[in-house]
Amino acid sequence: KKYEHGLSKSRSLIGQKLNSLFANFRSVDDEFFEDLEDTLIESDVGVKTATEISDQLKEEVKLNNIKKTAEVQNFIVEKLIDMYDAPDDGKSELNINPDGPTVILFIGVNGAGKTTTIGKLANKYREDGKKVLVAAADTFRAGAIEQLDEWAKRDHVDIVKKDEGSDPASVVYDAVQRAKKENYDILFVDTAGRLQNKVNLMNELEKMNKIITREIPGAPQEVLLVIDATIGQNALVQAKMFKDVANISGLVLTKLDGTARGGIIIAIKNELGIPVKYVGLGESVNDLQDFDPKEFVYGLFK
Ligand code: GDP
Repeated sequence: KKYEHGLSKSRSLIGQKLNSLFANFRSVDDEFFEDLEDTLIESDVGVKTATEISDQLKEEVKLNNIKKTAEVQNFIVEKLIDMYDAPDDGKSELNINPDGPTVILFIGVNGAGKTTTIGKLANKYREDGKKVLVAAADTFRAGAIEQLDEWAKRDHVDIVKKDEGSDPASVVYDAVQRAKKENYDILFVDTAGRLQNKVNLMNELEKMNKIITREIPGAPQEVLLVIDATIGQNALVQAKMFKDVANISGLVLTKLDGTARGGIIIAIKNELGIPVKYVGLGESVNDLQDFDPKEFVYGLFK
């Protein structure tokens, strides 16, 4: 029910197409599988994952002597959910540090939605009664600091910031110091995503990581990669590149409200093993949801 609004586009494409594939009275033959693969690919599941689903489905059909398309539909629903091996309750809890401030690092290219996601999450945790600090370590993108500052004001949370062009590592240092000294529960760190230069990006992230780990053992508790879902299969390419330079613990997929191709969620989990923790379904503060695969997949077939 929670994806009802934001995912209406995804549902209208994948859902309608899959549903019509199953609704039409037809036999489960080669043509059916071809149509199925096409539909999945069109929904951004990706060729590899679409072929995998289709191949496994063929096996299943043969083994169980399935003739009715309705039974195939059940299998696909199960298969998509399985690909997620998600927690039963469907909750995306962040990994929390029991001995001090929890540090959550956000990475991703410019415009992916890092600042916005931090704004949304900071509000959620503050409303849960946590003492929240945000750090404007994206000192590179013009306007990023100001934008985070606006979110912090709106959310009634504190911020550590410096001038544009400052060393991001020094912002991070000040932020972790303050988080420790003033007993913050959680620190969200915004970073610049300059993927154009992989070596630079890696060095920058390493520098920040080192400071965080040195000051708060065990931190960062999460490194969340933020990806814009509207870029389709490029999302997979981007995720692969970031996976090479950072220890990503989870994904935030933004702008799912703007795409009819929610299948990218399945592609990223299946091909990279990175779980989606949150999905962004709009620009305002309440437009962030835990990602619940079961609800997502069932939603597609409604
Ligand atoms: P950053 O450069 O990674 O920090 O990206 P921003 O947070 O500045 O986001 C870039 C643009 O995407 C902004 O205009 C946001 O309002 C917008 N945005 C972020 N998340 C979402 C989302 O889930 N849905 C929609 N429709 N827009 C989003």
